Amino acid sequence: MSFSVTILGCASAKPTANRHPSAQAVNIHEQYYLVDAGEGVQQQLIRAGINPLKLRAVFLSHLHGDHLYGLFPLLSTLGLYGRCTPLPVYAPAPFGEMLAAHLRFLDRELPYTVEWHEVDTTQHALLMENRTLEVWSIPLRHRVPCAGVLFREKEPPLNVDKFKITKYGLSIAQIAAAKRGEAVTLANGETLPNEELTYRPYRPRAYAYLSDTNFSARAAELCRGVDLMYHEATYAAAEQRSARERGHSTTADAAKAALKAGAGRLVIGHYSSRYKDEQVLVDEARALFPETYPATEGHTFTIEKQR
Ligand SMILES: [Zn+2]
Ligand SMILES: [Zn+2]
Repeated sequence: MSFSVTILGCASAKPTANRHPSAQAVNIHEQYYLVDAGEGVQQQLIRAGINPLKLRAVFLSHLHGDHLYGLFPLLSTLGLYGRCTPLPVYAPAPFGEMLAAHLRFLDRELPYTVEWHEVDTTQHALLMENRTLEVWSIPLRHRVPCAGVLFREKEPPLNVDKFKITKYGLSIAQIAAAKRGEAVTLANGETLPNEELTYRPYRPRAYAYLSDTNFSARAAELCRGVDLMYHEATYAAAEQRSARERGHSTTADAAKAALKAGAGRLVIGHYSSRYKDEQVLVDEARALFPETYPATEGHTFTIEKQR
């Protein structure tokens, strides 16, 4: 039951010698989701040992080149690899027009369909779900419409304690009732509350991706209790003015968001090319939020399963 985030790119828009623009692979129960697709993302997937055919969906936070220039070559490559299952892409408008142009001029014979799902970046909305996972949009404050992505595991089904089954001699019907969350009445008339018999096998985990954005109290609030939060920190704290004007955040903004959300750990990234070494940014954020870690390409952050 894996739940992890692999950093594929951590730079902002200007190219640097040793960093790629934004992209991450989120692995939830061995299902892979691509979050943003900066230039070079397909090579970065290969370097990280992630088979691009395993991607179940793509989420694009916004339509700035440093978050999507890598997507179109990846779409072509998936065709070369013979993908036949549809690929959902969640992105704000007018992504559909870009996709249509790409398909018309460069990928006329793609053997699979790319399904665009429009994201309304003003809404905190459920984008997709399956048996164990929900993915939500988080409205952000950037120069163009932009939404973060929140991955939340669903509550796992109740398990009935084996020791209690023996202790109370529960029948199959009583076990089924306990699994449905009901209280169980024994033959002697005693009623056992559901909590006496059941437990959740694990605590649901959550990851929030917030880039690109000014500090947003609302966004932080929507991420309440996440185990891991990625928040862009393009600038050092002293560059507050540049950050505000350009729709970005400082290290202090990122730390403030993690504090407000009560996040377990904070990962910062989307570093401006002016910072050759991100340690200065990490140190600043850590002074406010000690559990801060740098986005480093190829590094995987794992959220452990906990009872
Ligand atoms: Zn960006
Ligand atoms: Zn941007």
